[in-house]
Amino acid sequence: MKTMRAQVLTEPYHFELKEVPVPEINEDEVLVKVKYCGICGSDWGSYTGKYADEVACIPLTTGHEVYGTIAELGKNAKGLHVGDRVTYDICTPCGTCYHCRIGEPLLCSDFKQIGIHTDGGFAEYVKVPWKNIYVVPDEVSDEKAAFVEPLTACLNASHKMDCTIGRSVVVIGAGLGIMHAQLAKLRGAAPVIVIDANADRLKMAKEVVADYTINVKEVDPIEEVMRLTNGVGADFVLEAVGSSRTYEQAFQMVRKGGKVEAFGICAEDDLASLPPVEFVTSEKKISGSCAGIGYDWGDALTLMKYGRVDPMPLISMIVPLEELEDTLKEIRTNPKLVKVLVSPEAKERTVLYK
Ligand SMILES: [Zn+2]
Ligand SMILES: [Zn+2]
Repeated sequence: MKTMRAQVLTEPYHFELKEVPVPEINEDEVLVKVKYCGICGSDWGSYTGKYADEVACIPLTTGHEVYGTIAELGKNAKGLHVGDRVTYDICTPCGTCYHCRIGEPLLCSDFKQIGIHTDGGFAEYVKVPWKNIYVVPDEVSDEKAAFVEPLTACLNASHKMDCTIGRSVVVIGAGLGIMHAQLAKLRGAAPVIVIDANADRLKMAKEVVADYTINVKEVDPIEEVMRLTNGVGADFVLEAVGSSRTYEQAFQMVRKGGKVEAFGICAEDDLASLPPVEFVTSEKKISGSCAGIGYDWGDALTLMKYGRVDPMPLISMIVPLEELEDTLKEIRTNPKLVKVLVSPEAKERTVLYK
């Protein structure tokens, strides 16, 4: 039996680097040899046992932001070849529940994602249904391809928010928020304003995309947004932090008739206080989006191929598979780390941030 190295979450707060069997594929699956797997905020959630439905899946190899090459093909796979550079849609909705059947597969009653509920990419190999595979264009580098999954989540939020040309957009949070700001700017938003508490990240936001940045440690963000929008408030505010306080601020800085797009994930017991009267008399709106799915993968690859978005400023470091657990903790304390890629092939760290 062939074996491989895999990081197995055996209980909350405990990853074990194990030698485990290489997954066996059926005729509808392919085996992907992992080159990179990005660390997502949700990996911290899995690690700390934050979500009961994920704890139920332990022991588990997490990791869902994968780029790799095809190592083996099931016999039903069409149009794919061993060696193809690929990434894959991580969603495997059931297809038969109420939500799936009315066209809301992300809300599937039995929603499973590869690397969140089933074994994923913090290993040398991962198995995937062939229909979920997307071939990576030559123009998209291996590192960028590892950023496709986070970009799909941002794209889905961008579709839901649906900002139009000339409208103002505020993004709260300068991590993945920088990608949200890039998408808003692509849609013609003006001005694009990014808010954070970290000066380094705001500097990056300014260099990459933002017309204005606001440091909440220096000024009142609501007053500042009002000033920058001529006292009107922002047409759209996207929350990409995940705290009740920033959601409350988002609701205060959005204009009458404007929309707050919910992206940041709060703890389940973190409750925001919003005046419902403003839904009525000010016609303020809120929408949310939880992930990317389906052709969001195709769109993400196309946008990268044609240089419409660039994730490279957000990719901070590449670490060997062995360093996963240490790095998960380091991300919590080092604000210079935005996206870290884990690589089963790397022997040592590559630091990309300045
Ligand atoms: Zn992710
Ligand atoms: Zn379903």
